[in-house]
Amino acid sequence: PIAVQRKYSVATMGADGIGPEVVDASVQVMEKLVELDGSFQLAFENFDWSSDLYKKTGKYIPDGGLDALKKHDAILFGAVGAPDVPDHISLWGLRLAICQPFQQYANVRPTKIFRGTSSPLRKAEHGDLDWVIIRENSEGEYAGQGGRSHRGQPWETATEVAIFSRHGVERIMRFAFQSAQKRPRKLLTVVTKSNAQRNGMVLWDEVASEVAKDFPDVEWDKMLVDAMTCRMVLDPKSLDTIVATNLHADILSDLAAALAGSIGIAPTSNLDPTRQNPSMFEPIHGSAFDITGKGVANPVATFWTASEMLTWLGEEEAAKKMMDAVEAVTERGIATRDLGGSAGTKEVTDAVCQELDKMY
Ligand code: ATP
Ligand code: MG
Repeated sequence: PIAVQRKYSVATMGADGIGPEVVDASVQVMEKLVELDGSFQLAFENFDWSSDLYKKTGKYIPDGGLDALKKHDAILFGAVGAPDVPDHISLWGLRLAICQPFQQYANVRPTKIFRGTSSPLRKAEHGDLDWVIIRENSEGEYAGQGGRSHRGQPWETATEVAIFSRHGVERIMRFAFQSAQKRPRKLLTVVTKSNAQRNGMVLWDEVASEVAKDFPDVEWDKMLVDAMTCRMVLDPKSLDTIVATNLHADILSDLAAALAGSIGIAPTSNLDPTRQNPSMFEPIHGSAFDITGKGVANPVATFWTASEMLTWLGEEEAAKKMMDAVEAVTERGIATRDLGGSAGTKEVTDAVCQELDKMY
């Protein structure tokens, strides 16, 4: 046997709700892929950080936890959020507590309509909507700056300050132009609200024009975020790569996922493009407590997530096979309820493994 040279260690963290169900399903598919492919290896280590752990110990991340996590090549994350923990505590306790120290400043969110599935946009079909939304992931409206005064008084005020640094805007803009350049259409839309927000958003516009000079082959335009929502619905074919602030891209990517058919198919990558820290990959959807434990969660978002992770690790061929297998399954009409089907998580997962078997 030929010695396997490419070996990656992956930290898995299902965390809350349906997170563990969809992460486990993805590990099953990746193990099948590794077995069939034979040219690379994945070593998984599971981390049990979750809202349950927080409720028991008062901490989402145990002491020294980040150092242990940092040893891995990538992190596959499920979802965080529990009914009895306020959302801002769980979000900052786990997800952002990993994203921030690991400098995962680029958040990448592809969307498309899978073969055999339908979009709520009545006329749109496979191929009509194929976008990558790049979300600034380290500052902006989610910088955590601000505070409250005169608590409880009728004159109480709260400030939520959006921070935009030239360094932060420039690095995400450069990343966005590079991402657009790698795609066949080489098309980028820069989203802001620079008519109403005269400081940070104007800085975005200025930096976009400067960075654009280094990418003469990328065609780009500017959109205000409100007009952008209309364009996504009315003219989806005119868009390809999209870059926006932390808040704007958060909202636009939920819209994108819904237009593509379901929040249950959309992946996201939190990347440290310098590769000094592991990047983290997760489905866009949340912990979905309404369907937890019922075996009906759509694992496709996490399959696509895992495929994006393999691409980032350098295993493009295997990543593509994994997506081809997933799309062969949706094309056969094997889908969970959110996509209008009747299959459960396990049926979809097994069907993807069978498709992989056929491919090798
Ligand atoms: P969060 O605050 O963590 O984003 P949320 O309350 O905004 O959570 P989700 O947990 O994503 O939202 O759930 C929104 C709806 O989408 C729920 O009805 C849920 O059941 C459904 N949903 C989310 N993910 C999936 C999935 N993978 N498969 C099927 N349905 C899903
Ligand atoms: Mg949500």
